[in-house]
Amino acid sequence: MFVVIAKAITTNKDKKREEKMNFQTNMDWIEPADRIQILPPYIFARLDKLKAEATEKGVDLIDLGMGNPGGPTPEPVVEAAVAALKNPDNHGYPPFEGTVAFRSAIANWYRCRYGIKLNLETEALALLGSKEGLTHLALAYVNPGDVVLTPNPTYPAHFRGPLIAGAQVHSINLRPENDWIIDLGEIPDRVAEQAKIFYFNYPSNPTGAVAPREFFEDLVAFARKHEIMLVHDLCYADIAFDGFRPTSLLEIPGGKDIGVEFNSMSKTYNMAGWRVGYAAGNAKILSGLRTLKNNLDYGIFAAIQAAAATALNLPDSYLAEVRERYRVRRDFTIQGLKDLGWNVPKTLATMYLWVPCPPGISSTDFALSVLEKTGVVLTPGNAFGTGGEGYVRISLIHKCDRLGEALHRLKQANIRYQPELVRA
Ligand SMILES: *Cc1c(COP(=O)(O)O)cnc(C)c1O
Repeated sequence: MFVVIAKAITTNKDKKREEKMNFQTNMDWIEPADRIQILPPYIFARLDKLKAEATEKGVDLIDLGMGNPGGPTPEPVVEAAVAALKNPDNHGYPPFEGTVAFRSAIANWYRCRYGIKLNLETEALALLGSKEGLTHLALAYVNPGDVVLTPNPTYPAHFRGPLIAGAQVHSINLRPENDWIIDLGEIPDRVAEQAKIFYFNYPSNPTGAVAPREFFEDLVAFARKHEIMLVHDLCYADIAFDGFRPTSLLEIPGGKDIGVEFNSMSKTYNMAGWRVGYAAGNAKILSGLRTLKNNLDYGIFAAIQAAAATALNLPDSYLAEVRERYRVRRDFTIQGLKDLGWNVPKTLATMYLWVPCPPGISSTDFALSVLEKTGVVLTPGNAFGTGGEGYVRISLIHKCDRLGEALHRLKQANIRYQPELVRA
C-alpha cells in the first residue's frame, strides 16, 4: 500500500519537473494543492489592506465588518478557566471527544431549551470552534464529485468546507421576496437525487433571517425522501428577540435520524478567541467526524472546556442581558438607517443587519467607498457567495455610541439609500 502511494507522489512530481525546467532556482514547482487553488478569492483581502492603510493614516476606524463580538467574556467563565488552568490535571492531553463536564453542559442546554435528550457518549462532540467542525464534516463525508447543497448567500464555511473536500457545490439562491428562506421547490429533482449533504443555517448569518418550524419539517421530509444528510448551523440560538425562539433541527421528528447541528460559544458568550464549539445529533454522522478528528487533533485544552461548560450553565439572566444588548442596538441602528433612506425590516435574531446597497453600485464598491469616505467598515455581501451581491452586512458588535458615530459619518458623507428619492 505504501509503495503505491510513494509511486503516485513520484509520478506527479516528475510530471511537474518535466513541465518546468527551471524548478531548481525559482521554486515555482511548489504549488498548493488543487483543493486550495479552487477556492474563490478571499474578498476580505482588499478590505483588510485598506483598513490597514486607514489605521496607519490615523483614521478612527469603526469596524462593523467582522462578526467578532466586542466586550469581555463573562467573569464567571474567565474565573472557571483560571481555576482550571492552575490544576495540573488539566495540563496533559484532554479527553478526546470532550470532557464529561462540557458534554453534560451541552446535553443540559438541549434539555432545557428544547426538551431533547442526548446520549453523552455518542451524540455530543466538542470542537475547536464550530467552523472547524463544519469544515471537517465535509472532509469526513464528501468524496470528490459528491453533490453538496448550500444556501447562497451563507456563512463561508458552509461552501468552502465542501469545496476543499472536492464537492460539487449546488447553491440555492435566496431572495428577499422569500424572506431569505430556502425554496426547496427550486432544487431540481436530478440534483436532489444526487445530493449527499445539505448545509443550512437559521437564524442566518449574513441575512439575519429566521425560518419557521414548518420549514424545518419540510426540509426533514425532503432530506428523508432524497436520502440527504442535514447539517444545521444553530450558532444564533440564543441571540433572538421579541419572544422569537429559534428552532433546533433535533427537535423536529426525524431530524436527529438524518442530521447534526453545530453550535458556537463565540457569539453568545463573547468567546470568539477561545476557539471552542460543539456538534450534537446523529451518532453515526458524528462518529465519522470524530474519526477524522482523531487523526487531526488532540481535542481542546481542558481548561477551555471547563470555561465552555461554565458558560453553557450560566443563568438565563445572562442570556436575557445578551438579547437586550443586541435588541437595543438593532432598534437604534434600524432607526438611524431609516433617517438615511433605508427601510430595513426588524430582525428577530442574530447580531447582523442585511442592508441593500444604493442602486447601481456593487457590494464591494459600496463597502470600499464607505470605508474610504467614513472609516466605517461593512462586509460586502458577496463575501457570502454570489447571492449576497447588492447587499452589505452590518455587525452590531459595538455599543450604541459607536453605532451612532458610524451613522453620523454616513450622513456627513451623504451616503444614503436612493438619495434622489429622499431629496424629492
Ligand atoms: C461565527 C459563526 C461561526 C463560527 O463560530 P466559531 O465557533 O467561532 O468557529 C459558525 N457559523 C456561523 C453562522 C457563524 O456566524
